[in-house]
Amino acid sequence: MEKKIYLDNAATTKTRPAVVEAMLPYFTEYYGNPSSVYELATQNKKAVDEARNTIAKALNAESNEIYFTAGGTESDNWALKATAEAYSDKGNHIITSKIEHHAILHTCEYLEKRGFEVTYLDVDEYGVVKMEELKKAIRPTTILISIMAANNEIGTIQPIKEIGEIAKANNIFFHTDAVQAFGQVSLDVKDMNIDMLSASGHKLNGPKGIGFLYIKKGLKLRSFVHGGAQERQRRAGTENVPGIVGFGKAVEIAMNTMEERQKKEIELRDYLIDRVLKEVPYVRLNGHRTGRLPNNVNFAFQFIEGESLLIMLDMQNICASSGSACTSGSLDPSHVLLAIGLPHEIAHGSLRLTLGDDNSKEEMDYVVDTIKEIVTKLRSMSPLYEDFVKSMSRQ
Ligand SMILES: *Cc1c(COP(=O)(O)O)cnc(C)c1O
Repeated sequence: MEKKIYLDNAATTKTRPAVVEAMLPYFTEYYGNPSSVYELATQNKKAVDEARNTIAKALNAESNEIYFTAGGTESDNWALKATAEAYSDKGNHIITSKIEHHAILHTCEYLEKRGFEVTYLDVDEYGVVKMEELKKAIRPTTILISIMAANNEIGTIQPIKEIGEIAKANNIFFHTDAVQAFGQVSLDVKDMNIDMLSASGHKLNGPKGIGFLYIKKGLKLRSFVHGGAQERQRRAGTENVPGIVGFGKAVEIAMNTMEERQKKEIELRDYLIDRVLKEVPYVRLNGHRTGRLPNNVNFAFQFIEGESLLIMLDMQNICASSGSACTSGSLDPSHVLLAIGLPHEIAHGSLRLTLGDDNSKEEMDYVVDTIKEIVTKLRSMSPLYEDFVKSMSRQ
């Protein structure tokens, strides 16, 4: 196969041609600064407002609750650091989970150094936060709960509405990192009692370097980036107009096509999972069988080094991942896989395949056939596997 089979949509996605097309005039024709007064600039301001409206509608939020940022990482940093600072007179305790993205975990570690206390909740074997543990973790000094809507490695979808209810009942702010979930599953900030929500353009077939933070009206968060009066004085810097326009277009398409994409991706996902579990021995599915993102598959192969598997898949034109792109290059196994209880040696044999709406069943067949060949080959070279087979034959 000459064509690349791209199965790493949780790391980033291809920008849709319609999105690129929508962006282009904002580089060449409407290049004005939206803060300027002349006609050339007012068209830009209008385009930014339209994108903001589209995004607000997708979440059942108000337009003036959407603040554009440079991506998911910035939104997460902003939500946590600014809430901690603004409400430190009320308390110094934050609750999050062990399986968050590093944009949350490393920000929490930073806050711990600044005197805040953080509880990192355990998850169950599927990666779901336990509601009883969450309730038990709440203290009089708890100011914020930050739990991701869906996990970037194993696709687990959290009971966001329940968490929102618990937060509300206890008068605690609720932030969710929805970078993976937004555009894939429906989210409603009012129904789910969400006070802050992070999302990013490049995870839903939009451009890179653009994201937003939804901040519910009434929260007194300070600006994260100081400077001009942009974004209602809460996020300074000249707007990334082409990025915002592209993000708006990507959200519009994602919302209009959500149902059919979900249906198609779930079908392909389940086909891939079924074939691998049936045809490859000593493999497990990480995450929940159905309570996961429509496009997420994550396996752990026993007696296999995930990195070797990735390199050999790449040689067969398959782009995959062993976990999150941010941790590849480090030898530590994924914190998410350890949190769901996998032993180190099994967590090392993990493979994440995240689909897009342009993948096909033929591609899934090619991927499964290739995985089978590579796994057989790698195991034939593994002393651990050899010992295991010997011990089995003695029984
Ligand atoms: C990708 C990702 C981020 C970071 O978003 P960027 O736009 O790449 O900064 C944060 N959280 C989750 C869950 C992600 O998947």
